[in-house]
Formats: sequence, structure tokens, C-alpha cells
Amino acid sequence: MSWRDLHCGEPRPDRLGERLTVAGWADTRRDHGGLVFVDLRDHTGKLQLVVNPERAPAAAEVAHEVRNEFVLQAEGELVARAPDAVNPNLPTGAVELQVDTLRILSRSTPLPFQLDEENVEETTRLRYRWLDLRRERMQRNLRLSHTAIAAIRRTMDELGFVDVWTPAMTRGTPEGARDFLTPVRLQPGKFFALAQSPQLFKQLCMVGGIDRYYQIATCWRDEDLRADRQFEFRQLDLELAFAEQNDVLDVMEAAVVSAFEAVDRPAPTRPFPQLTYDDAMARFGSDKPDLRFGMEIQDATEATRGSEFGVFASAPTVRYIVAPQAFSRAELARLEELAREWGAKGLAYLVRDESGEVRSPIAKFLSERELEALTPEPGATVLFGAGDEAMVARVLGLLRLHLARELDLVEPGRDVFHWIVGFPLFEQDEETGAWTFMHHPFTAPAPGEEEWDESSPVGVHGQHYDLVWNGWELGSGSIRVHDVGVQEKVFRTMGLSAEESQAKFGYLLEALAMGAPPHGGFAMGIERFVALLAGEPDIRQVVAFPKISSGSDPLTGAPTPMPPEVLAELGIAALPQE
Ligand code: ASP
Repeated sequence: MSWRDLHCGEPRPDRLGERLTVAGWADTRRDHGGLVFVDLRDHTGKLQLVVNPERAPAAAEVAHEVRNEFVLQAEGELVARAPDAVNPNLPTGAVELQVDTLRILSRSTPLPFQLDEENVEETTRLRYRWLDLRRERMQRNLRLSHTAIAAIRRTMDELGFVDVWTPAMTRGTPEGARDFLTPVRLQPGKFFALAQSPQLFKQLCMVGGIDRYYQIATCWRDEDLRADRQFEFRQLDLELAFAEQNDVLDVMEAAVVSAFEAVDRPAPTRPFPQLTYDDAMARFGSDKPDLRFGMEIQDATEATRGSEFGVFASAPTVRYIVAPQAFSRAELARLEELAREWGAKGLAYLVRDESGEVRSPIAKFLSERELEALTPEPGATVLFGAGDEAMVARVLGLLRLHLARELDLVEPGRDVFHWIVGFPLFEQDEETGAWTFMHHPFTAPAPGEEEWDESSPVGVHGQHYDLVWNGWELGSGSIRVHDVGVQEKVFRTMGLSAEESQAKFGYLLEALAMGAPPHGGFAMGIERFVALLAGEPDIRQVVAFPKISSGSDPLTGAPTPMPPEVLAELGIAALPQE
């Protein structure tokens, strides 16, 4: 005997009169003076079972024992519901199973939460994730994730990409995070790092003639957990030989669009627009701007040169945004508090009421020319940032996002994908002044910019690009250095001696010196992508078994301490913890 003939969500009037066996979870049980109704549920939906004690006394006895989330098997005849009992909101709402035999396949202890309960605390949901997974939200998200990934795999296959497995246990890969380490019993005291990405292996695949590589690769990064970050995550990781920047973008766009189509969502139009890094920072104060609304940052540096207002006159950069609302004093005080938290010294403003009247503590210092340039339309507020460029960009960028949320400026259902291109190749550490890579040290300089001053590589651009969706950075990639001399120069600029470069990346330098084709690639965070596709606010909602922000897994209780003998075998000892 098979466990079931149909799924719970499948029976329709075309099967009336058939004898069917179904199996699933008891969603609810209702006793109605003799008749017992059970909604039987599986991942496809619900079917109403009716147990009539006169027709099936043994089944009725079983039915009385049934509690929520018991696993049942029922056999009987599919019948039409009485007209007044038809439920038009349920796909199976015109039929019910008149049960003859009912079996309890599995029982359930009392539940820590009911499946239809809203606002269950997330730690509780994760502690009992097997229950949470039965709920509609997680069922939908995990299946949507599957559908999107399957479409991406199909696209990669069609485009000639080869799925090559690369090691999780490796040497540190410099992606800018801490490594998770794995001790090795056979070599006590030595450690593998868990791959932060397959970066160097995929490059070696290119040197190895694979031509087009991809992988849905798990990556590990020891960073603080956030809405869009877990210790372990997956990337659509790809690399192409003999490729230019636009070739890589083209493949990524095809992958993204195929996932949209697979989940029946209107796909973004290709090609996705490109914005340079400098433009993004100047106009939106972010390298992952949310372009679903305007409120662009505008420059007032010129307009305020020689201003009577000292703060403006002496600031290297003066910029502003115009919010479409005349804020009250209290609202402005709150905004100023936020601006200070983000690093500003204050928040100058010009409010123009609906009546046209201007309120501003700084207006009296501003010249006619300044006021003319800066006074907004009635019913708006100009908020200024003045100071060094990076701080001004950051503060106005964050204010812009904050106000878009507060003032509801984002049109629901709007999707904006775009590329950020033309990043600097290096950035300078604000404290130490040392230069380091912006993306990773394998990114090639822009064509014609290969000759830089190694002690001060100001203004050198990298062939690095990011993909942004509605203000979330989905991923990054670059055209790589394939010339060993250029790669050595990048390492030197980062302050690595020849010995250090050899020690850390000797194998890459050797490979590059043995016939490396020009190549480039990309990696897109799968969970970020799927979370946005599912309309979820964080990636935990699309991960079957995620960790909470402390870095623990409430389900298994991991991580756990290890007995000293186990550690000793690995050649390590744990320091006492407070
Ligand atoms: N390895 C990079 C990352 O994980 C992506 C890439 O450059 O392909 O972010």
C-alpha cells in the first residue's frame, strides 16, 4: 500500500466519487456533535476530512484522539461539500474526504507555539525550526529559493559554465573578513581556514583552461551577523576567461533575469544601468545607493564659498538634500541627533513652510546669492552636511535613506537594479594611512592606469563592479590581474614585502607566470538575492537553519565547548573564559 494517492492540496471535483488515501499533518480538528472535521495539511495545501461515527465508528474513535500536528493517514471517498459548506478561499474547498479508515502515523507533544500564531519570537521559531518550516512562510521561501537557484543553474549551464567544486578547507582568502579556522588532527597546531570565497581557486581554474567556471559556493566569514549577513552563506560564484567587464555583467544579468522569470516576477530590464562609484558617492552618499527614490545630494560648496556662515566658509565640502516636508523644530532636533551619531558636528537647515516663510537659524548669515541658490520650494526642508567629503557623503547618504523610510518615499513594488563601476583600486586606512585593496588584491587596474606611484596610488581605478538591488549590495566582481608583474606591484603597494607575497600567495604568482589568460568574474550573495525576491526583511527568513545575532544556533545549541582531550589531540588549548 502506498502512503498516499494525492497530496492534500490536490483533490478537485473532477475526482468526486473516487476512493483516495491521503496523508499529512492535522492542522485543526473540530467536533460538531458527532461529526469530526480534520483539516489535513501538507506542503501543497489542506483537505477537509469528515469522520462520521455512524459510517465509520472505528475511525471516529481515532479522530477523537487527534491533536494538532499529529501525522495521519486517511482513506475514504471524495465527496462534494454541501453548498453552504463550500469554501471558495480554499483550492480544495468544494470537496471533502468522507473517511472510512483513519490511522495515526505519528503523535505530537504539546506545541511550543501554534502554527497559525503570529509574532512568535524568532529564537523560538529557530529553536523549533522543524515546526516553523511547516508554516506557509518558510515553505514558500525555501521553495522560491529552490526555484530561483534551479533557474540560475540552468542559465549557467546554457551559457557554457562548468560547475567545479573547490575546497572549503584552504588557506586564508583575503575578502576582508576574519577567517574561521579548522584545526587538523594529523598536523597538530596547524589550521585550515574555511574559504571566504573560492576566489583564487576560480582564478586557477581559468589558468587551468576551464574557460567558464561557476558554483553555488558556500563561503564562511567571521563577521558580526546582521539582517543581510550570516557566518556561512552561498554565492553564485563565476569566472570567465578572455572576458571584459561587460561580458561578466551580461552573464550576471542573464542569471538574475532567469530567476525573476522562474518565480513569475516582472524582470528588470537589461542592460542594468551603470553608475560610477564617484557619482554614487556624490549623488547618493553610498556605494550601494537605493535608486527607488530621488532626493539626490546636491553640492553647495561653490555657492557657499566666502559665506558669512563660518561653518560653510571653512568646510572643504558643503552639500545638501531637500526633503519634501517642512519639518518641525522637534523633528529637526531628532534628525540632528542622528546626524551627530553618524559623525556630523551638527545639522544646518532651511525650512520653507507651506506659506513660503523660511525658518532657519543660519539664514541671517547667508547672502542673497546663497539664499537664492539654496531656498527650497514651499513645504520642504534643506538639510546640510559640511565638513570633509567622506563624512558629508556618509551623513547625507544615511539621512536620505532614513527620510525615505520616514516619509514613505519608496514606491512599493518598484525594483531598481544597477551596477556601480569604476571603483578606486586602493583605499587608505584612515588611521594608519596604509594603502590597501578596495575589493580584493586580485582586481586589475583600469586599462591605461597600470603605472601608479606605489607609495601613493591616489586616483587609480580598478576594474571592479558591484551589483545593487534596491540599496542592497548583491555582490561584487572584477576583471583580475593576469600579469604576474602587475600582481606583484599590487602586493607591494599594499605594503607586502616580496617574501610576504611569496609566503601568502606564492602559488598564485607561480600560476600567473605559467600562461594565465585574461579573466574576470563575479559573486552574488544567494541568500540576499532570494530574501529580496521573497520580499523578506532579512536573510534568516530564507535560510532553513540560520544562526541568531550572537552567532549561536538555538536549535542544536552550537557552538559548544570541547573537552580538553579533544583539543589536546588537535594541538590547541582553550583559554579560560569569563
Ligand atoms: N571573491 C569575490 C567575493 O566573494 C567576488 C569576486 O571578485 O568574484 O566577494
